Amino acid sequence: MKSNINNQWSQHLSSEQLRVMRDHGTETPGSSPLNYEKRTGAYYCANCHAELFRSETKYDSGCGWPSFFAPIKGAVESSLDTSHHMIRTEIHCAKCKAHLGHVFDDGIEPTGERYCINGIALDFKPQS
Ligand SMILES: [Zn+2]
Repeated sequence: MKSNINNQWSQHLSSEQLRVMRDHGTETPGSSPLNYEKRTGAYYCANCHAELFRSETKYDSGCGWPSFFAPIKGAVESSLDTSHHMIRTEIHCAKCKAHLGHVFDDGIEPTGERYCINGIALDFKPQS
């Protein structure tokens, strides 16, 4: 059976969210208000609302995108991205496969990883 990938996209996504999450785009560095989000809470996939990251793993990497040193276990998957003449590890939502960002090995302890995520692909909900 042939799956139609277009069926999985939420009607609530903006054209910019579709550009990033469906078409593997990248938001303008520093454009996401989530760069400055410091409250305790959780970050959810903007498309399928799966819980992806928690505030305890967020840190200020200065790279221009919200950064985390670890995702929630099993919440994201990776694949090799060889576009733009670079070899990078692409990160997507394990549930709906929406593109989220990339992971690099220049992060902080305890993992040494930097999950560099497009803020537009995330919904933050502060803990109440
Ligand atoms: Zn998702």
